[in-house]
Amino acid sequence: MTEIIVLGAGMVGVSTALALQEQGHTVTLLDHRGPGEETSHGNAGMIQAEAMEPYPLPLDPGTVLAIAMGRTNDVAWRLSGLPHFLGPVLRYARNSMPKGYRANVVPEWAGMIRRAQDDHGKLIAAAGADDLIARQGFRKVYRTAKGFDAAAATAERYRAEHGVPSILMDGRQVAEAEPALRKTLAGAVHWTSSWACRDPGGLVRRYADLFMARRGSLVLGDAMSLERTGAGWKVQSHNGPITAERVVVCLGPWSPALLARFGHTIPMVFKRGYHRHFRVENGPKLPMMDVEMGTFLSPMVAGLRVLTGAELGPLDMPPGTRQIDRSTAAARELFALGDKVEGPDWVGTRPCLPGMLPMIGPSAKQDGLWFNFGHGHQGFTLGPTTARLLAERMGAPVSR
Ligand SMILES: Cc1cc2nc3c(=O)[nH]c(=O)nc-3n(C[C@H](O)[C@H](O)[C@H](O)COP(=O)(O)OP(=O)(O)OC[C@H]3O[C@@H](n4cnc5c(N)ncnc54)[C@H](O)[C@@H]3O)c2cc1C
Repeated sequence: MTEIIVLGAGMVGVSTALALQEQGHTVTLLDHRGPGEETSHGNAGMIQAEAMEPYPLPLDPGTVLAIAMGRTNDVAWRLSGLPHFLGPVLRYARNSMPKGYRANVVPEWAGMIRRAQDDHGKLIAAAGADDLIARQGFRKVYRTAKGFDAAAATAERYRAEHGVPSILMDGRQVAEAEPALRKTLAGAVHWTSSWACRDPGGLVRRYADLFMARRGSLVLGDAMSLERTGAGWKVQSHNGPITAERVVVCLGPWSPALLARFGHTIPMVFKRGYHRHFRVENGPKLPMMDVEMGTFLSPMVAGLRVLTGAELGPLDMPPGTRQIDRSTAAARELFALGDKVEGPDWVGTRPCLPGMLPMIGPSAKQDGLWFNFGHGHQGFTLGPTTARLLAERMGAPVSR
């Protein structure tokens, strides 16, 4: 009999299923789609050893005013979404105040990031997925000297405080390293230790294949059918009902909707992101973040992926094109983009909690209900690590 049902087969759910299985549990993984087809597919694919501090909300008046006036592309919002995000964003802002953020958030987050590549590395090797991974880092590029100077100071601080390596490059060095660049830039920080995945959804599928090869069960079904049954839990799959003693919610941005049914009010800041692919003959050699334009360029199997920053609003907000159009224009200034690869723009949501740390552990209200969600901007990086943390907390199977 299945002991544990894991709901959601994104990077977090698949990693959780693998970690619990490794500990000796019998696990069923359930999703209403194939593994890695949602947020864990559409991201920038970075396994970010440099991301030692989660994104705090900007609090300086100049940046807040620029966001409020719609002048930024890294953070966008729509008036219709304001009632949905105002409450969670105010809590997020409170948790971003420097003193509490440095004392309560950064140490725990940095501890997880420090483990992330090791945890991915083991799965990549076991899943035979090395062909999807490049280990040459990525560059954050800056168009203005002011932006570059501030970034250089941050890079220096990260080296001193967290031991994260980076190389500072002036405009000429960036042009030499990226000969297809069409624009002169002020400079770049090359974060050398991060890894890039050329097919993020493909990596999740490889991990899911590994889970199944180790005799795990992956089924299609609707997580919203979850209900209590006796001392355990039941969920409907396409193959009929599945029952288990414990259930782990790994539904990313959909987690709060399910948990509301079991007495949990989870304030989540939904940070929408978009991407498009382009055919490019001479693109960036390494992934590149055009920081001041809120745009990320990531070479992928499907083409050059152009991604946006965050758009705030409810989960079901109709997609717009303004932010991705702006990011496409920014990308065209940097490289000669060819045709857009067929298909609609991709839309997905970073599941951000106002405390910036993912929720990993048991429900305080329901026996046998466990959480692993809320990974924000770095869930692709952190999936295997929070999975191991959760498995450690759940413990090995009790022998009877
Ligand atoms: C534009 C963008 C760029 C990003 N770039 C990076 C990056 O470079 N590096 C990084 O570390 N992170 C990045 N992220 C963040 C990262 O993608 C997410 O934090 C991570 O994918 C979350 O994983 P997850 O498994 O929690 O959620 P998901 O991958 O969304 O998985 C949730 C699963 O739940 C399933 N589900 C939902 N509802 C139901 C239901 N009713 N029944 C059954 N199943 C259901 C879905 O089908 C899905 O498979 C980025 C995010 C975005 C949007």
